[in-house]
Amino acid sequence: MHFILVLISLFIGLQVSAQNIHVLGADLVSNNLTVKHDSMGDIKIRKRIYDSPPRLVLDVLEAELGKRVISYPLPLDLGLKQVRIAQFDPTTVRIVVDAQNMSAIQKIVIDNIGHNIVFKFGVTNVTVQSLELINGNLQVVADGPIVSRSLKLETPSRLVVDLIGAQFKSPSQAKTINNGQEVINISQFDNAIVRISFTGKDSQSREIKISNNEKQLLVLSSSGTTANNTQPSEKLSQIQLLRANEREAVYQLDANKKIQYKHMRLHDPERLVVDIIGLSLDDAFGGMAILESNHASRVRFGLAGPNVSRIVFDLRSVSITEIFKEANLGKSLIITLQGLVPKLSQAEPKVEEPINSNPTTTSNGPQIVLDPGHGGYDYGAIYGGYNEKDITLSIAKKVSDYLSTDGIQSFMTRNDDRFVSLAERVEISNALQPKAFISIHVNAIATNPAMDGLQTYYSLDPGHKLAEHMHAQLLKHAGMPDRRIRHANFWVCKHTRSASVLLELGFMTNVPEREKLASNDYQDELAKAIVKGIKSYLEES
Ligand code: ZN
Repeated sequence: MHFILVLISLFIGLQVSAQNIHVLGADLVSNNLTVKHDSMGDIKIRKRIYDSPPRLVLDVLEAELGKRVISYPLPLDLGLKQVRIAQFDPTTVRIVVDAQNMSAIQKIVIDNIGHNIVFKFGVTNVTVQSLELINGNLQVVADGPIVSRSLKLETPSRLVVDLIGAQFKSPSQAKTINNGQEVINISQFDNAIVRISFTGKDSQSREIKISNNEKQLLVLSSSGTTANNTQPSEKLSQIQLLRANEREAVYQLDANKKIQYKHMRLHDPERLVVDIIGLSLDDAFGGMAILESNHASRVRFGLAGPNVSRIVFDLRSVSITEIFKEANLGKSLIITLQGLVPKLSQAEPKVEEPINSNPTTTSNGPQIVLDPGHGGYDYGAIYGGYNEKDITLSIAKKVSDYLSTDGIQSFMTRNDDRFVSLAERVEISNALQPKAFISIHVNAIATNPAMDGLQTYYSLDPGHKLAEHMHAQLLKHAGMPDRRIRHANFWVCKHTRSASVLLELGFMTNVPEREKLASNDYQDELAKAIVKGIKSYLEES
């Protein structure tokens, strides 16, 4: 008998195409299974997970595979068995991943990118930054969205919370806490699950809360929440300007617990945004004098979300750089602003903006958001020893450099080899409101290794014009074979409010093109052509 453990339906997009899409084949490369299809637009998929035997079933609706059945063995060391792809009914292609255990199923991440449905196996996607017991409540802070599951077990009565795809930052995070009434055991259960078990009379009445940004998880105790009122609350107690001169301005932020923070630079106007996670601002904060310096014209405070306090430094110049240093066992954060600054008399007009709103631009010059595809554990296509994530980053960096030489400011959704979710990429772009958003990818299609050339995708009307400029300049200056401008509902293009395109700069499955893509000279050529496309678009719009 089959027991349905979880039922999740994902309908990606709402468009119903009259024509069936075709599932073309599947490829397994280094723990990623890529299923290719020919859809130009949205596809509809439906995912189910079953536990006996453990398997994941993904139905691709309104799709055809034909008579062929595709079957592959999957890595046994990841707890998997095989994948089977078959025509389930006349309009459904069914993909079944058989596993040896549920933990392997939980570590599958499915991405739908372009012509690929990618199954990533054995994914560990977050690192636990801190685990702290505060007034009986356990607080977990991770560097990415936490996916958790909880189980209530008997004899002895306990609550088990698993953080799926999570790893400890350090082995010393494993510990057992015994407070007399309850034993809390924190362990790395296997290489991709952090397990926290609470054993005690009231453990099962604990409540799990996840913060808005999903990076913080709280396991609240019923007694802990009431005790909260009598305990000193967790606050940022003060901000001081330690010293300021022409070379630097040093600010210190103090709290009554370890500060968890995240920072980003935003432009037009130039500012440094520091988000403090899980600490509220003390009342005294609002009454503090403006800590003006040669580097920051103003420091503003507010809330960026229910659990996030935001501190914004309005910077006097784009050339200012920031350095973060922790002190006082992490309860103090020292922020140093450095670099050459213009004469104070030339201070720019101040922009009044509500602290909790998305940053808006009042741009004088054009602004571009560059989005190097993939990153971190998400390698993108992997062929011939090359990773898509490295090629896209390298090209994007070159584009950014050439743009800045031409006086065009750009912002990259990632500057290094890190995972950035599609939602975060969109969020960054929508916050900056650039003139254009350009996502950089390279393609792969193992079933057709002769395929090469450029595909330029757009999703929404404003992207069409941008696509035309980019495509024309890339064909002209990089001499790429023309694989047309195409419409497709890529997540990043569909959800960015600016004109946006996604460039597939050639095929990694085509050996000569792959070798070129991996070379510095050709990347340079592509970058210059992309810059030409951007400039041509900006001139016209
Ligand atoms: Zn890609």
